[in-house]
This record gives sequence, C-alpha cells and structure tokens, in this order.
Amino acid sequence: MTDHTLLKVKNLKKYFPIRKGVMKRVVGFVKAVDDVSFEINEGEVLGLVGESGCGKTTIGRTILNLISPTEGETIFDGRNIYDLNGRENKKLKTQMQIIFQDPYSSLNPRLNVGEIIGEAVREHKMARGRQVHNKVVEMLEKCGLNEGQVRRYPHEFSGGQRQRICIARSLVLQPRFVVCDEAVSALDVSIQAQIINLLKSLQEEMNLTYLFISHDLSVVRFISDRIAVMYLGEIVELAEKKELFAHPEHPYTRALLSAVPAQTPQEKKKRIILKGDIPSPADPPPGCRFHTRCAYAKEICSKEAPELKPDDHGHFTACHFTGEI
Ligand code: SF4
Repeated sequence: MTDHTLLKVKNLKKYFPIRKGVMKRVVGFVKAVDDVSFEINEGEVLGLVGESGCGKTTIGRTILNLISPTEGETIFDGRNIYDLNGRENKKLKTQMQIIFQDPYSSLNPRLNVGEIIGEAVREHKMARGRQVHNKVVEMLEKCGLNEGQVRRYPHEFSGGQRQRICIARSLVLQPRFVVCDEAVSALDVSIQAQIINLLKSLQEEMNLTYLFISHDLSVVRFISDRIAVMYLGEIVELAEKKELFAHPEHPYTRALLSAVPAQTPQEKKKRIILKGDIPSPADPPPGCRFHTRCAYAKEICSKEAPELKPDDHGHFTACHFTGEI
C-alpha cells in the first residue's frame, strides 16, 4: 500500500425519486446515500459493511459513474470523474472496474469465455488478433482456469468457476481500482474461501485497490485493511481493521461484531440483538439515524445528527457519546 490517495469521495449523495399517480409526480426521495465521504490509498482494501438496503451497493455504482450522483464528488487520481467527457470516461473504465455479486446473470450465455473476456480487450484496443487470445489465456490462468476452457460457454461452469471468469473479465483491462460488490455472497460457503483467497492474491500481485462491499463482516475482516460501517445511507464508523475489531465505538458496529463468530476460544462474545427493523431510507429518523434502535439513545440523539469525527488515531465515529458508552 502507498501513501498516494487514489480515490477520494466527497459529500456524496444519491437520492432516488419516489413517483406516484398518473402524472408520476415526485412525492419524495429514497436517500440511499446521504453525504458520504472517505478516501482509499493506492494498493489498499477498504471494506464497506452494513445490512442490506443501507446504501453500500449504491455507493459502489455511483463512484464508478454507473449511476449519476445527486450531489458530491468522486476524485480518482486527482480528477473528478463526473466532469469527464465521453472519451475520457471510456479511458477511465479501463482503470475502474466492478465485480458483481451474481456470476449467473452477469455473463452473456451466448458468448464463450474467450469472447466474454476478449470483448473488453478489443473494445478498449488493448490488443489485436492473436494477442487478444494470449491476454485472455494469461488472465484465465491467473484466475485458476486454463486455455482448454476458452471455447466453453458459461452454463458449462460451476458458480465458483463463473465468478473466476467474471474476475478475469474485470481484471484483463489491468484496472487500478476495483469495486467488489458482494463478490462472494452468491457462492456456496465452501467456494467462498477460494474466491476470497483468489481476490486477495490478485490484489497483491497486481497492486490493486479494492472497495470490498459485503454484508458479511467475517469476509470483510479477512481481506480489508480498513473497514467502514454503513447505516441507513451514512458511514457511522471507519477505522483500521484491527482497531475496529478490538475497540468498536459505535453501538451499531458493536451489534454487528457481536454476530461474527469468534476466531479464538479466548474471544468471548455476548450477542447484541438490535430492537426493531431498519427504518425506511425514504423517511429516515431525525438526528442520529440509529436512535430508534440504540440502547444508549438520549434526548439529543433524536434532535442532532452526530458528525463522523476522528480520534487521535484516525478512528472515525459518528456518535454523540463516543468514548463514554
Ligand atoms: Fe446511539 Fe445517540 Fe450514539 Fe446515535 S448518537 S449511536 S443514538 S448514543
């Protein structure tokens, strides 16, 4: 990992309009991502965790400009990606890639593996003729597949092998930054470990920078350098992995961690069960969004939203009572 900030997300917001009636009038907004800021250094893996519906996937897609933001900036290597023109955007696509959750629906069933992976190489003019084939085979081999499988179709592969094809397709363009969006969640538990190991070894070998999105803290724990915890469209805690697991500050993080299986017999845990359901992002609670489920909530919590603030060691928490509870 280097000190160079590769990606800087500043005050990012993504609101989806809610439309009703024959005229499809806008009657409100789903605040999927609400004023989120963070940075990722080159070669770093930042894990992003939270319950489903908290806005993780929307962040991943917005920072790749697959969906446009409502407000805010994503600075990649010094440039705001939302200001780029069509040609610059196309070039950026080779540097910023995504690996999706579902290896079944994200591969075109009518193309063989060589065509699926070679398509991107040709489109971005990274090689021609036989060189395309060589690049495809080289990437397939890095991902644990082989040349003999180039002419096979997606339905001939298992779920784990398909995810290897998706990884090869994303990495063949030699990107610098990759969003792994629940990249192992659709796989059997026995296959998950193989794919996470593969992602980790490719990250080291190719000096990749990952935003690793998952609802599963044990998966994020294995691969990440730092971890950001999201709740209802906001980041509530962000810290180095070891620090977060040893000293979680936010009550929501503590509840999430209490559900992760202990790694050693010494690591004793008391399960914290949160009361109630996650509120709707179309009508988030005022003040601290977690106050409707927080065991420590006081009067101020329903009135004022806490800021995400760092301590002396760069451990960020958004809670009025950090260090007191
Ligand atoms: Fe709980 Fe209040 Fe802290 Fe929010 S600000 S996490 S409600 S104690």
